[in-house]
Amino acid sequence: MQFNDFKLDARLQRAIQTAGYATPTPIQAQTIPAGLASRDIIGTAQTGTGKTAAFVLPILHHLLTKPAQSRSTRALVITPTRELAEQILTTIRQLAQFTNIRAATVYGGVGMQPQERALRSGVEIIVACPGRLLDHIERGNARLDGVEFLVLDEADRMLDMGFLPAVTRILSFLPRTRQTMLFSATFAPELSQLAVRNMRQPERIDVGLGVPAKTVAHALYPVPQQLKTPLLLKLLGQTDANSVLIFTRTKHRANRLAEQIERAGYTTTALHSNKSQNQRQAALDGFRSREFQILVATDIAARGLDIATISHVVNYDIPDTADTYIHRIGRTGRAERDGDAVTLVTSEDAATIRDIERALGAKIERRTIAGFDYTPPALPANETARPAGTRQGRGPGAPDRGGQGRFRQQDPNSRPHGGPPARRGPAPQRSSR
Ligand code: AMP
Repeated sequence: MQFNDFKLDARLQRAIQTAGYATPTPIQAQTIPAGLASRDIIGTAQTGTGKTAAFVLPILHHLLTKPAQSRSTRALVITPTRELAEQILTTIRQLAQFTNIRAATVYGGVGMQPQERALRSGVEIIVACPGRLLDHIERGNARLDGVEFLVLDEADRMLDMGFLPAVTRILSFLPRTRQTMLFSATFAPELSQLAVRNMRQPERIDVGLGVPAKTVAHALYPVPQQLKTPLLLKLLGQTDANSVLIFTRTKHRANRLAEQIERAGYTTTALHSNKSQNQRQAALDGFRSREFQILVATDIAARGLDIATISHVVNYDIPDTADTYIHRIGRTGRAERDGDAVTLVTSEDAATIRDIERALGAKIERRTIAGFDYTPPALPANETARPAGTRQGRGPGAPDRGGQGRFRQQDPNSRPHGGPPARRGPAPQRSSR
């Protein structure tokens, strides 16, 4: 299957070429024909699979070839996070670059007025987060009665974030006759109900649900909670750490860890929901441009972040669920590049690890770092007895790049926790989710 086979408008074909897309990805091969045939679609696709272009291209083609019924907005994409909204806007602008089609984003944390102007001017495509869009609708800024195409992106995430009532209310302002495409990694009963009520005989498209890219190598590093930071610094010192995304459980831990890593000599920034929109954008832009080697983030960054060059994802704190693990590590190994997914685990994480291994359909290799002192720090009274600096791997030290891009196992024979060797991608089988 080639892009030519879709018979897309020539201006879109030119944009596809300019973007450097050679052949359609599997989700594109299935979604684009169904989208062009005006079918409703329920799609499950792993992030980083080209899902955005899969829904954007048929919409752009319809906008170019079907005459507008009114001068109001014709396509609406609803998505859970601002970052995702901006990424979708970037893809739309790239693919619509040889057309006059305009698009704008609508989300909270920034001024209402530019969004109000965009909405009132009737830009053809709006990419919105639910809460702010509802604000605009209730203030009479947004006219959605001309919407012909609706996309609900990362619907499971919107459900998790409590956006379902807002989404349902937004849907009540849209014409019933429209094309709807819904993308979700999982289908909780609430989402199935939403689909049944709002879609017409949707075509189901499922490409390898939740199986991470085969180019990602997974590894677990068992470590006492108190030694996570020294172990992480040791790991960073052994690798070519120029694009590492690290996840923590809380905003506070993200800030604190970012400071500790910065002190160890790496350019580092943090991304979480307490940051202003400008700070969040600056963190992402700086990480993308390699101004920052390391980005420490909470799960807000786990979904949809599209940075092609991330070489390592580190779970400093284990994710709550196997789903979140898969979404987090979906940030690396994109576009067939190699990536490492490293998880620091404590004895309390055993049950979650079992869930993750079941979801991956494979056991993950347990690794230890030779020469790292795994003894938990003694009580303060004893601590003073230890001469400063004797604990290997503690304290910053100059990062030793070691000339290797991957986190390497220091002692290949040392696998006290058992487990098979790291594999390049687990077998593509799934447990129920
Ligand atoms: P997405 O899954 O939509 O976040 O897309 C992931 C990345 O793949 C984006 O950087 C796209 O620009 C890129 N991409 C999308 N479609 C293709 C394609 N057919 N060939 C190569 N890259 C693509």
